[in-house]
Parts: sequence; C-alpha cells; structure tokens
Amino acid sequence: MSPPLSASSRVWVAGHSGLAGSAIVRRLAADGITQPLVASHKKLDLRDQSSTRAWIARHRPEFVFLAAATVGGILDNSSRPADFLYDNLMIAANVLEACATSGVGKVLVLGSSCIYPRDAAQPIREEALLTGALEPSNEAYAIAKIVALKLGEAYRRQRGMHVISAMPSNLYGPGDNFDLEKSHVLPALIRKFAEAGPGGTVTVWGSGKPRREFLHVDDLADALVFLAKRPEAGGMVNVGTGTDVTIAELAELVKTIVAPAAKIAWDSSKPDGTPRKLLDVSRMTAMGWKARIGLEEGIRSTWEWYRANPGTARK
Ligand code: GDP
Repeated sequence: MSPPLSASSRVWVAGHSGLAGSAIVRRLAADGITQPLVASHKKLDLRDQSSTRAWIARHRPEFVFLAAATVGGILDNSSRPADFLYDNLMIAANVLEACATSGVGKVLVLGSSCIYPRDAAQPIREEALLTGALEPSNEAYAIAKIVALKLGEAYRRQRGMHVISAMPSNLYGPGDNFDLEKSHVLPALIRKFAEAGPGGTVTVWGSGKPRREFLHVDDLADALVFLAKRPEAGGMVNVGTGTDVTIAELAELVKTIVAPAAKIAWDSSKPDGTPRKLLDVSRMTAMGWKARIGLEEGIRSTWEWYRANPGTARK
C-alpha cells in the first residue's frame, strides 16, 4: 500500500498546463504541495517511450496524476481519430510502464465518461464498461481511455502498482479551450455569446436535445486529491455531479449570463453525439465526496476567467 499524499510527497502532474492538470496544480497548492514536478511539452513528449522512461527514472515521483491527453470537442474528435487514438494510447502506455518500472507508489489516471457504451442505462454505473458499442463521434478517444484504465488494472494486478482511474463527466472551467473548431460545448457557447453581443445571433450545433453532465474542473481536482489521500482507494470510479441538462438548457443559461439579449439559432447539420451520459456517482458519494460547484456559479466564474484572460482564451 502506498503512503498517503502529504506536503512532502514528490508529486508529478503530467499535463500540468491543460484544463485538468492546471486545476490539479491549484488544488495541490492548497495542501502545501506548491512545487509539484512538471514538464513542458517541449521538454518531454510523453508519446516518446525512451524520453518518458528517462524522465520518470530521473525524477522518481511517488505520486503521478496522469492528466496529459490530446482532447477536443465533438468535431475535433471525429475529424482527428488517428491523433486521438495514437496520442492517448502512447501517453498512457509510456507513463504507466515507466511508473511501474521506476516503482512509483500511486498513479491517478484521468479517463472520461465517453468510455461507456452509447446506450448504457442511465445513470451509468462503473460496471457498464465494455457491455456495448461506443458512441462513434468519440470512439477513438474512448478506446484509448479504456486501454489506459485496463492497463492500469493490469499493472495493479501483475506488478502491485497502486492505480486509480477516475472517469469524469464533461469538464469545464478556467484554462479551458475556447477555440470554436476544437473546443467542447460549454467554452464554445461562452465565446459565441461573448462575440455575438446584445442583439446578435448565436448558432448552436445539433438539435439541443442531448443531455450532458458538466463538472467544474476544480471539483474534479478536489476529487482526485481526495482519492490520492485514501490509501484504500483503487480501481475505477466515476466523478460527476449526478445531474445533467440538455444542450438547449445550457445554451439558455450561458445566454442569460453572457448576453441576455442575444438570439439562438440551431445548426442541425452538426452532430448531436451521444444522447446522454449521466454518471452514477454513488461510489464517490459512499466514500464521502461530492461536487460543490453548481453549474450557474461555474459558468459565471469561467466567463469571468475568459474576460480576464483574453490572450489565452482567444488563441
Ligand atoms: P461531447 O460531449 O463529446 O459530445 O462533446 P461536446 O462538448 O463537443 O458536444 C456536446 C454537445 O453539444 C453535442 O451535442 C454538440 O453538438 C453540442 N454543441 C452545440 N453547440 C456546440 C458548439 O458550439 N461546440 C461544440 N463542441 N458542441 C456544441
């Protein structure tokens, strides 16, 4: 069993500059871990096996948060399946193998709710994994994430490495990607309403009927640190809020916050994706953790971040 996470632990946040990784860095700082190990993209390409091995052997972390990934919204996912599959597969395989070889105590692998079958019973329990076909629009990403969590389980069984895989619902928050071609729906809508302004029209994709569960990334980071601190926690666990909204409801909410006088038009030529992926969060609830940031509050703070960081947000 690995030692519990403490202020003196050697912690590596892989993917520290991304949406999830930067939230983990903020959350660790609150616990006194102010200088976790980090490596920029330029210094370390996690798709490269020998440099990943060498980096981990040199820095010898005790805890690893694996939040590095190639991610994107529905269009980016379906137009770059090779990148999404290859990058995420290599990152997971290289990091997990190097962690096992270097004797890392505990690894927290970040997955995604898209790993579950498209037609899984709602809310989705962890047991639904591999019981049916995946949603085609993000199949490549989902397969890579399924391999990551299965590889984690295999290293746990065969080599005794302590691995926890967390499956979050749709993430959003400060540091999100607001590029309209690549982003997920929530940051895309913030940007579209901001740019439409009063009286302008915002085009929202699809039918508005799909339901999504949005988890603020600070809640995710809190859940991961919570799991890292529990010596007995292991295996796979869903992390979400337990509630979802339709895309039409989300669009209304973002409109109210960002540009109440704007109008909404629907582009039905764009894909809806999976109809619903609400997570059953009872495992986390039973452990004593629940999400704290409500959707409206989370959208407001993300909107504030967007306005305060024009350079980063509007790349
Ligand atoms: P998904 O959860 O993997 O499907 O990822 P997204 O966040 O990209 O999309 C969620 C839903 O929002 C889908 O039904 C999209 O069609 C819909 N949507 C509506 N407007 C937009 C938009 O401007 N950008 C994105 N990415 N999705 C949008």
